[in-house]
Amino acid sequence: MPESNAIENVVIIGSGPAGWTAAIYAARAALEPLVFPGRALTKEVLPGGQLMLTTDVENYPGFPDGVTGPEMMDLFYKQALRFGTRVATDKGISNTLEYGLHTPCQEVTSVDLGTRPFVVNGDGGLTVRSHAVIIATGAKANWLGQENEQRLAQSGGGVSACAVCDGALPIFRDKELAVVGGGDSAVEEGTYLTKFASKVYLVHRRDQLRASKIMQQRVFDNPKMEPLWNKVVIDVIGDKHITAIKLKDTKTGEETEKEVGGLFIAIGHTPITQFLNGQLDVDEKGYIILKDPYRSTTKIEGVFVAGDVVDSVYRQAVTAAGMGCKAAIDAERWLAEKGLA
Ligand SMILES: Cc1cc2nc3c(=O)[nH]c(=O)nc-3n(C[C@H](O)[C@H](O)[C@H](O)COP(=O)(O)OP(=O)(O)OC[C@H]3O[C@@H](n4cnc5c(N)ncnc54)[C@H](O)[C@@H]3O)c2cc1C
Repeated sequence: MPESNAIENVVIIGSGPAGWTAAIYAARAALEPLVFPGRALTKEVLPGGQLMLTTDVENYPGFPDGVTGPEMMDLFYKQALRFGTRVATDKGISNTLEYGLHTPCQEVTSVDLGTRPFVVNGDGGLTVRSHAVIIATGAKANWLGQENEQRLAQSGGGVSACAVCDGALPIFRDKELAVVGGGDSAVEEGTYLTKFASKVYLVHRRDQLRASKIMQQRVFDNPKMEPLWNKVVIDVIGDKHITAIKLKDTKTGEETEKEVGGLFIAIGHTPITQFLNGQLDVDEKGYIILKDPYRSTTKIEGVFVAGDVVDSVYRQAVTAAGMGCKAAIDAERWLAEKGLA
């Protein structure tokens, strides 16, 4: 696929809520954005983003009866294409609604942000130059990586990586649940779940939590929370819905089963920034650092970021979409200010 001679106004990398929202705003500003959605076949880079891995989304405004994650992302991309967004597919640049979330699309393998216009390289052979770039590549939730865990997570079978997203679903009400992890976010997720669950077990591989003292105290003060020390989850049991977890004691090696009605994995997230090859600064957890916390700007003028790749705190579809909007408006104003579009 030849290098495109035209200089793009703005390339958007990522096709989750942040990327498509940035595309909607940029397209409506007549910038004809080009989106590199990523590939469907690798779990880390999933066109449509993390919501493609979930069934019910009940907290996104505008859907009073809820919506499935894939349906919602389908609506996002259709709205973006309606206003003139273009997409980097394996066949080239497409701007028609024939494109679907399962069409093979290009993932960005590298970018050169040290030259102007910036250069963006896709893994399907498409290389483009662009005045502005919006990075919306998300952060991958870390999973245990077990087959049954993944099967039940993807089928809505009571395994999740997001308590705020899924904890209030009826399937978890008044059930005994387990949270895996020992850091602040595991304690936060567990505490949140005690609003709905009859009990929350905190499964941790060591005999003390990594969480801050104040967070640890929350666990000990909450009668609904019980740490299971020195334990790792080695399997998830259940056909259509989880019924129990298989645990192994990290000290004695003893294997036991614990009946639970839900499992939440809270062992961190990995922001997807490898393709940047260190050209933007990241914090100690790997999240891109903003130049101004209220904007989407980075240390490189013309490079904007949005969504979970920059947000270790909220990590919600609606906040990612909000940041996508900010990034597109920032890009549009910057392009106008520089007389580039
Ligand atoms: C199981 C689960 C359930 C969830 N449920 C909810 C919920 O009910 N409600 C809610 O608000 N939030 C929910 N979330 C959180 C929500 O999915 C995220 O906050 C949101 O998707 C973040 O959007 P994003 O656009 O920043 O990133 P993502 O959705 O992660 O999208 C990132 C995109 O970048 C692409 N990409 C990555 N690398 C490259 C590359 N090199 N080149 C091109 N493209 C690339 C990927 O293909 C992907 O399309 C859930 C998360 C999980 C894991």
